[in-house]
Amino acid sequence: MCGFIAIAGLPGRTVAPEVYEGLIALQHRGQDAAGILSFDGKFHLRKQNGMVRDIFRERDMLALQGNLAIGHVRYPTVGMGSDEDAQPFYINYPFGVGMAHNGNLTNFLDLKGRLFPQENICLTSSCDVEAILYAFAQAMHSADPMAPMEERIEVAVSGVFRRTKGAYSVAGLLAEGWLFAFRDPTGIKPCIVGRRDTPNGPEWCAASESVALDVTGFQRVRDLRAGEAFLVRPGGEPYFVPVRAEDHRPCIFELVYFARPDSFLDEISVYKTRRRFGKELGRQWLERGLPLPEVVIPVPDSARDAAMRLAKELRVSYREGFIKNRYVGRTFIMPNQGERRSAIRRKLNPIPLEFEDKDVLLVDDSIVRGNTSRKIIEVARQAGARRVSMAVTSPPLIAPCPYGIDMATKDDFVARGREIEEVRREIGADHLEYLELERMVEAARAGNPAITGFCTGCFTGRYPTADAAEHLEALAAERAAAR
Ligand code: AMP
Repeated sequence: MCGFIAIAGLPGRTVAPEVYEGLIALQHRGQDAAGILSFDGKFHLRKQNGMVRDIFRERDMLALQGNLAIGHVRYPTVGMGSDEDAQPFYINYPFGVGMAHNGNLTNFLDLKGRLFPQENICLTSSCDVEAILYAFAQAMHSADPMAPMEERIEVAVSGVFRRTKGAYSVAGLLAEGWLFAFRDPTGIKPCIVGRRDTPNGPEWCAASESVALDVTGFQRVRDLRAGEAFLVRPGGEPYFVPVRAEDHRPCIFELVYFARPDSFLDEISVYKTRRRFGKELGRQWLERGLPLPEVVIPVPDSARDAAMRLAKELRVSYREGFIKNRYVGRTFIMPNQGERRSAIRRKLNPIPLEFEDKDVLLVDDSIVRGNTSRKIIEVARQAGARRVSMAVTSPPLIAPCPYGIDMATKDDFVARGREIEEVRREIGADHLEYLELERMVEAARAGNPAITGFCTGCFTGRYPTADAAEHLEALAAERAAAR
């Protein structure tokens, strides 16, 4: 998973500093690498591995001139990419175009290794936006150069849709002085458009999450629809071009874990949805007649909103029992189980007062390998808890994500091929309760009933796009080799 923000400011302005602010707001979507591409008649690019605040020094920002700019934060998929794999990417021939994306092409290896070489195109990175960029440029090159830009962009984006498979949202710049964005035909990855009115005309923004619009002072206009493109010239009014839509299936894991709670995705408030997940889990608990705990304690940070609402539903006290050390790196991507487990202990320290001699209910948003749950249950017992149950605001995760969310290979999932009772024993809980799939989907849909379904592939193993399963096989082999 990655994040992007693109801004078209009025002529004469420099927008890279605002793109930088947007990237800071999107940092949770990727801490691996970041980049900004700006345009003032020519492209200026700064990109590197690392966190946003470490990459852009004052002299880099001064070089990023222009009223059109896109920025990107990268989330790791397989291993660490090189600086060259960081985004955005641009080309100057057959015409100038720059791009950044969030998502994953499931036919990238086929495009890079077979299809593009047949056309004498040599991709130099292992970043799939490069394939999108060339598919776009090739199709655009075939369009009538005298046709209006909204027609040329339709040709270019439909060329991308024809050649690529997978899920992606893209933002880009055209050297002819346009900003554009588009969302793949199933709309799995988010993309929202914002507007800011100034006395001299409107300015425009497209981003992965609405929080990037908030911090840069843009008002939400609307999310792009599945298979739709957005195109605008600085100071002008935009075109929304429907290119090719299939059933819109936004990723539900964005709502469960990934997105910031202060964002709206497809008009759904992430915060309110997490609260609804908590409420539904509470109802499920009561309907099953499970014994009431004395205290509800969240695993910080992403489970907090749901845990608070769950506690209310159960009429049980809510307490912060774990303090998170933000300076311990990402435990999730550490190379082996031992390192992951000891890092979890350093990351989450208990306040024993909240555990001593109590029947506690711990709440997390998801269980992947089971390391976090196993460790925090152990810590809760060491801190004196009498009984420790675990409630999870999503169903068992059993299948990898072919669309760029780094989870695990299929054998890593603690719940794959196991009954819930076996998972309970694995993590050492006295009781384990997962939110049921239908309840989760309905709680998400309540935020926008026009969404008829979500991509729930990681919970079901059923994916909305073709050939996802083959891609996962290739990915598993690549990971094994990388290890
Ligand atoms: P695990 O310890 O492997 O069971 O991972 C579960 C924990 O990781 C939960 O606390 C989640 O909030 C968090 N989590 C779930 N999915 C991801 C992900 N794709 N990347 C990083 N953390 C995640």
